[in-house]
Amino acid sequence: MAMRQASAAFAGIRTMPKIASGRAERGKIVIAGGGLVGLACALALKHQLGARSIISVCDPRVEQPTASAAAADHGAHRASAVAAASRRLLQRLGVWPDIADVAQPISDMVITDSRVGDAVRPAFLTFAHDGEAGEPFAHMVPDAALYAALYKRAIDQEIILESVAVKRTELVDGRVCVFLANGTQILADLVIAADGARSRLREAAGLGWISWAYPQAGIVAAIRHARPHLGRAYEHFLPSGPFAILPLTDARAADAGDGLKHRSSIVWTEKKSEIDTFLALPKDDLLTEISRRFGFERGEIALDSEVRAYPLAFGLARRFVSERLALVGEAAHVIHPIAGQGLNLGLKDVATLADCIANTVRLGLDAGDVSGLSTYETARRSEIVAMAAATDGLNRLFSNDVTPLRLARDLGLGLVDRMPGLKRLFMNEAAGFSGDVPALMRPFDREAVRGI
Ligand SMILES: Cc1cc2nc3c(=O)[nH]c(=O)nc-3n(C[C@H](O)[C@H](O)[C@H](O)COP(=O)(O)OP(=O)(O)OC[C@H]3O[C@@H](n4cnc5c(N)ncnc54)[C@H](O)[C@@H]3O)c2cc1C
Repeated sequence: MAMRQASAAFAGIRTMPKIASGRAERGKIVIAGGGLVGLACALALKHQLGARSIISVCDPRVEQPTASAAAADHGAHRASAVAAASRRLLQRLGVWPDIADVAQPISDMVITDSRVGDAVRPAFLTFAHDGEAGEPFAHMVPDAALYAALYKRAIDQEIILESVAVKRTELVDGRVCVFLANGTQILADLVIAADGARSRLREAAGLGWISWAYPQAGIVAAIRHARPHLGRAYEHFLPSGPFAILPLTDARAADAGDGLKHRSSIVWTEKKSEIDTFLALPKDDLLTEISRRFGFERGEIALDSEVRAYPLAFGLARRFVSERLALVGEAAHVIHPIAGQGLNLGLKDVATLADCIANTVRLGLDAGDVSGLSTYETARRSEIVAMAAATDGLNRLFSNDVTPLRLARDLGLGLVDRMPGLKRLFMNEAAGFSGDVPALMRPFDREAVRGI
């Protein structure tokens, strides 16, 4: 049947590519990239377009997680701050119940500006938890647990997951043909590029990419410690970059047997030139370096995961859409992790795109119609540009030890700390409630909650 449709669709088209083994279903959407954003995108589309929509995710790395979401938390080195708006999306998509037990609410956040050896780090700015309707402005969620939950839900929702790369695409008679690395071709209404910072599809479409590498890398690990964190997050601005301490659930640490029952995630931004030296240190010496930055408030510490470093970069696509193509997540924007917003921006892309496509389809147009895509681009552009510029500016302002700059920024932080209105504005931004909030991220009313 699928092959019959393919032949009909191609009949009489001069520019058509040779379809060796084609599949062509009407209404089909192909997502290139099955990372956190790609999988969330598939679920958001299914939610907004209905059970009969046909959504494929192609990624050579998409694979059945070896553990459940709760078990994937064990030993995971990387975790993300998931903003309140993103949590609402994950709840609506049916993903949150699987990660709720490993999601740690952030109750408040303390910002300091100091040097590594400073004995005292005065708090220049504090944010207490008071998101909309009393919900925490963010939760810390291990990436591996989030991936496992998204994958499981994708299977439940009959999303087609294919462990293969997208090689290229070609427009064919008002649709798009997707060429996979295994020789298969899929005819679709729309292709969504969720294929990360080095997006092949973005490059092939000539959408433009402004980028630079930061002279920094982010060292990431999970840490166990003796005293509870009480849900508090710290961001210590040190001369080589921010050192963030983010609370994790105690689940696994409670079994450790050495009294270090509590856990936090660290994102240690360090000069790129120093990274290899730090990572080559014997484990005890590396732990000493971490302690010097972590501080002593939480008592004795131990590593709870491997320690990994990630290069940090800035990247922004000039356009987010072209004919029958939309970019989401890091294929569209890569920002400094100083504010923990990269994934949150990607999830908002996904929720917005799903709304735009659903509206287009409701009008009787197909999912790849230009009207939905241009609405998506307009809706996302200004927020993404503002967040990319803000995170870049913050990193430049704080990652140095220049005395006049230090004085000016500390004065600025102190002033903001005394302005509750401005602080609320920042919290709202961190929670993901600024700008246009797509339907999947809006507050639940009683009816909606019953429908989940
Ligand atoms: C140190 C650090 C800390 C961070 N902390 C936070 C945080 O606290 N909160 C937050 O919101 N964000 C945070 N981020 C950002 C966040 O991790 C990323 O924005 C997010 O993971 C990007 O997801 P993605 O799915 O867009 O891209 P990726 O994770 O890069 O996924 C892209 C996928 O595409 C696949 N792919 C590539 N090419 C192809 C192809 N040709 N065909 C098919 N598939 C392809 C790849 O295999 C991959 O699976 C942090 C980032 C760093 C570096």
